[in-house]
Amino acid sequence: MTTDTVTAFTQLPLQPPLLKALDEVGYETPSPIQAQTIPLLLQGKDVLGQAQTGTGKTAAFALPILSGLEISRKDPQALVLAPTRELAIQVAEAFQKYARHLQGFHVLPVYGGQDYRGQIHALKRGVHVVVGTPGRVMDHMRRGTLLLNKLKVLVLDEADEMLRMGFIDDVEWILEQTPAHRQIALFSATMPAQIRRIAEKHLQAPEQITIQTKTSTVETIRQRFWPVSGLHKLDALTRILEAEPFDGMLVFVRTKTATLELSEKLEARGYDTAPLNGDIPQNQRERTIQQLKNGQLDILVATDVAARGLDVERVSHVVNYDIPYDTEAYVHRIGRTGRAGRKGDAILFVAPRERHLLNAIEKATRQKIDLMELPSTELINDQRIARFKQRITDTLANEELGLYAQLIEQYRQEHNVPAQEIAAALARLLQGDTPLLIPHRAQRKAVSSYRKDAGQASAKPARKTEARATGRESSPEAGKQRCRIEVGRRHKVKPGNIVGAIANEAGIDSKQIGRISIYEDYSLVDLPAGLPKAAFNTLKRARIAGQQLNIVPVGSEASPGKAAGHPANIGDRPVRKRVQTKASTGERPVRKRVQPKAGTGENPSRKGVKPKARPKKVSKNKARKQKPVKTRW
Ligand code: AMP
Repeated sequence: MTTDTVTAFTQLPLQPPLLKALDEVGYETPSPIQAQTIPLLLQGKDVLGQAQTGTGKTAAFALPILSGLEISRKDPQALVLAPTRELAIQVAEAFQKYARHLQGFHVLPVYGGQDYRGQIHALKRGVHVVVGTPGRVMDHMRRGTLLLNKLKVLVLDEADEMLRMGFIDDVEWILEQTPAHRQIALFSATMPAQIRRIAEKHLQAPEQITIQTKTSTVETIRQRFWPVSGLHKLDALTRILEAEPFDGMLVFVRTKTATLELSEKLEARGYDTAPLNGDIPQNQRERTIQQLKNGQLDILVATDVAARGLDVERVSHVVNYDIPYDTEAYVHRIGRTGRAGRKGDAILFVAPRERHLLNAIEKATRQKIDLMELPSTELINDQRIARFKQRITDTLANEELGLYAQLIEQYRQEHNVPAQEIAAALARLLQGDTPLLIPHRAQRKAVSSYRKDAGQASAKPARKTEARATGRESSPEAGKQRCRIEVGRRHKVKPGNIVGAIANEAGIDSKQIGRISIYEDYSLVDLPAGLPKAAFNTLKRARIAGQQLNIVPVGSEASPGKAAGHPANIGDRPVRKRVQTKASTGERPVRKRVQPKAGTGENPSRKGVKPKARPKKVSKNKARKQKPVKTRW
C-alpha cells in the first residue's frame, strides 16, 4: 500500500483502542504527514520529517508510539523533546486524547518553571511516555529521577526551534545518554545545517518525509485572512456572515464533530446550514448539496473529504475556519468557489501559531493573502437596524394587519400608552433575549483608551506609589514601542515566560522582542512599533503565570521622570542585566546567544497553551521600591 492510498486510519495497523479514540475525536482521514509517517514508524524506521505545526505531526508520531507500548511495563518507553513548555503540555494532551481507551496509560509533561517534587513523584509512580523541554529532562536524567535505559523511541519535535532557542547541546547530550537501538523521529519545519548534522550522526538510515505542495492559480478568487486569536472564531464568523454579502458559503473545519457542532451553532443563530462529513450517508450528502444548489441551504460546514470535488456555482465564499494542513488542501478548498468563471472569496482564519502556514500558502500559491478588515460593530449594527426596518416595511406591505391594528388601538386607549411605546414593546417581544444590537460601549472604551495610550504619555493611571517615586529609564530603541503588562515579580514571572508568551500569542518573532524590565507588580517590554490592533487585543487577554496581561502601550515620547506608568516614575534604580533565558520554558539561563531562526523569517511555531493560573500572592508592602530585572533579547 502506498501512502497515497492511505485514506482511512483503519488502513493502518494501529491498535483498535486508538482507532476508536480517533473516530471519537472526529478525525476522518490521516493528514499527509500522518499517512506517510505512521507506517514507517510502525515498521521501526527512523524518520526525518520536514513538517510544521498544524500539519498533524503530533498524531503522526504519537499514534505509532502508543501502538507499540507495553502498558504493563511502567518505565519510560518513549521520550518527546519539545522546545517550549506550551508545546510539551500540548503534546502530552494529544497523547492522552489518543490513548483514552488504553487502560493504565500514563504520559507526563516535564518542563522548567514547575516544581520538581510533583514531577519526581509522577516519575516514580511510573509513566510510559515523557514529554519534556530539554533542560528539565536533562536535570531529571542527571538526578537519576528519569531513567531512560528502557527507551524505545525518541522524538525531537520542532528541532529547529530547539536549535534557535539554544537547546541543541542539551538535546545532543540527551541523545548520547539514550540506548543505542532506540528509534528516532526528528521533526523540523526547516532543516538548517546543524539539524542535518544531528540527523546524520544519530539517525540510522532515516526515511525522509517532506510534504509536497501542489499549487494552482486561483486568480479569480479574492483571498483574505483574519487573525483569529483576538476575537473568537465563532464571533468572527458571525460578523462575516452578517456583513459580507454572500450567496452560498462553504465553511471548512478539521473534524467530523466540528462540522456538527459549528453547524448547530450557526443554526441556533438563525442561518440555514447543514454539516457535510464523511460519516453522513452518500444519499443524504447529495441531498444536502442539492439543497445548497437550489438555495434551501446557504451554508455548509464541511470537512475536506466530504467537500472533495464539490461544484456548486452559487458558492461565493469559502471560509477556512480551521486552517488546512497544507497548501494543496487550501488550494482545493478555495477552488470550491469562483466556479464557472465567477468571482469568489476565500477567507482564512489564522491563529498566531499558524502564521507559518499562511506564509507557506502565500509562497506556494505566489499570491498575497490580505489582512481582512473585520466589519466594525457600527457597521454590523447599522445593518441590523436596516434589516429590522426592512422587516417592518415588508410586513406593512404584505401582511393583513387589521386585527392587530385594532388590538393596538384598544390597548392604547385602555392603558393610555402612546402607540410608539406599544410598538417598541412588541419589537422587544419579537426580538426575544437576543439583543438587536451588539453592545459597543465596552469596545469603544477599549478603543479610546488604546488610542489615548498610543498617542499620549500615560498608559494607565499611575498607582500612587509609582507616581510619587522618581527614577530614570532610557527610551525604547528606534522602531520599538514600550508596553506595560500586568504581571510582575510577585507573580514569579521570568523574562523567558514573557518572551515565550508574547511570541506565541501575538505571533511575533522572539528576536523582535526588546528590553524587558520586571517590576514588583508589572513589567515593561519593548515590542515592535505598529503592532496590529488584533495582536494587541490578543495580548491583552493572554495570561502569564495566571495573570491577564492587559497590555497597554506606554508613551515612548514621554520625557524620563514624567510619564505615569513609565519606569521613570517608579522609584527604582534599574538593575541592568543581560540575562538570556530559555524562552518560555522558564528554565535555567542558557550559556549561549539565542540563534536567529535559520533560513526563515517566520515566527516560532509553538502552541498557544497558556500556563496554569497560579494563586495570587498579595504583596505585603505595595509601596515597596520596585527593582526591575533588565533583559535584552
Ligand atoms: P499538529 O500539527 O499536530 O499540531 O495538529 C494540528 C491540529 O490538527 C490539532 O488540533 C489536531 O487535533 C488536528 N488533527 C491532527 N490530525 C488530524 C486528522 N487526521 N484529522 C483532523 N484533525 C487532525
